[in-house]
Amino acid sequence: MHRILLVDDDPFIREGMRRLIGRHFSVDIAGSGDEGLCRLRDEAPYAAVVSDIAMRGMNGVEFLERARDVAPLSPRVILTGYADPDVMSDAINRAGVSRFLQKPVPPEELLSCLRVCVSEYETRTAAARATQAIEIDEAWIRRALNTADFDRDFRLTFQPRVATSNGAPLAAEALIRWHHGETGVISPGLFIPVAETGPAIREITNWVLLQTCRTWTDWHHRLDLDVAISVNISPALFREPGLVGMVRSALGRTGMEPRRLELEITEGLELGDVERVRETIAELRSLGVRLSIDDFGTGFASMNYIQALDVDCVKIDRSFVDNAPDNPTDRAILNAVKELAGKLGLKTVAEGIETDRHEAIIREAGIDEMQGYRFAKPLAAPAYEEWVAPRRHLLPPPSAMLLLN
Ligand code: C2E
Ligand code: CA
Ligand code: CA
Repeated sequence: MHRILLVDDDPFIREGMRRLIGRHFSVDIAGSGDEGLCRLRDEAPYAAVVSDIAMRGMNGVEFLERARDVAPLSPRVILTGYADPDVMSDAINRAGVSRFLQKPVPPEELLSCLRVCVSEYETRTAAARATQAIEIDEAWIRRALNTADFDRDFRLTFQPRVATSNGAPLAAEALIRWHHGETGVISPGLFIPVAETGPAIREITNWVLLQTCRTWTDWHHRLDLDVAISVNISPALFREPGLVGMVRSALGRTGMEPRRLELEITEGLELGDVERVRETIAELRSLGVRLSIDDFGTGFASMNYIQALDVDCVKIDRSFVDNAPDNPTDRAILNAVKELAGKLGLKTVAEGIETDRHEAIIREAGIDEMQGYRFAKPLAAPAYEEWVAPRRHLLPPPSAMLLLN
């Protein structure tokens, strides 16, 4: 589904339009030009950017002018209360606005305008790909990693994890994004496996740990927020010294509470490594951090794994959730994992919850927590703050959180 960014400082108009177009497009909204620019930087690409013209602070023309620099390929649309020719020519000249919609916009007019934008966007991106013709292969990624400026090019996003019982926003997973100047966003699924073959993975993990701890401390001090944050740790790092020191140093430099940091180990780790991994896990535990097994069910040694390793939590892989509605075997496996985890005193988290049917199955299996697009995509820190605000009253009081963990 194509994504549209909608910027308007009037919450009623914003919500009304979101409802109107939400069935046809995936809509992100922002309440100001500044917020819109953050969205564009962190969550691009968008197939169209629609902005109100008269907004407090940065007005629509200023916003779209800056949006053109950040996301040149996304067509820009302006919403106006009245058609002032001077403002319109200003919007065309300064911000390259290609379409105007006059409020109140008839639904069909809005939808057809967006459809045209989407097709324009597709044409532009196809042309850009053809001219750039950068082939992102392993060698290219390796070279680009060598010259990457982490603080400039990498960003962290946070995907919420909620309690199955009441939707409380108990935790978030830190997921890295690489914004590359020439090619745009490169998915971690593409570059992490390459980084894992060399020394880059150590530096990346170090950066992610430090940024995560900084973000937690910021949320804790500024917002009095006390959620757990998990970080993905590549299996390769469990085989060599240095990981424990890295975690200790990130905690020490930022003051993050260790019990709020969770490290996700993927189940892909080979069994031969178990002894070494156990030692590392024991050292990490002595720092006070939590551990979880990620992508559970995708490796060959699943059940052995949770029995052999001293972890706190099991994250059940998305593939089980995805197949469960049509596949009784996968549903039975979900139930079996829950039962075993229960016996071992481990928390269970299901990943990839996208639909109400997925949610119902997870609820039925008694899995403790859920993560997936149904609740939120990975969000940049400001967007996460906005997402969590109306839900934080669901969190247990701090004293109960201590007992829970
Ligand atoms: P993962 O740890 O299994 O992370 C979950 C992935 O599933 C994320 O993709 C997330 O965006 C996606 N996802 C979440 N909910 C849904 C859903 O409902 N439906 C679908 N279809 N997908 C969903 P992402 O961010 O592209 O990350 C891909 C993988 O890259 C991660 O898989 C993880 O293995 C790795 N990765 C990401 N960030 C880091 C990092 O900082 N360090 C390391 N070592 N690996 C990372
Ligand atoms: Ca993970
Ligand atoms: Ca996972």
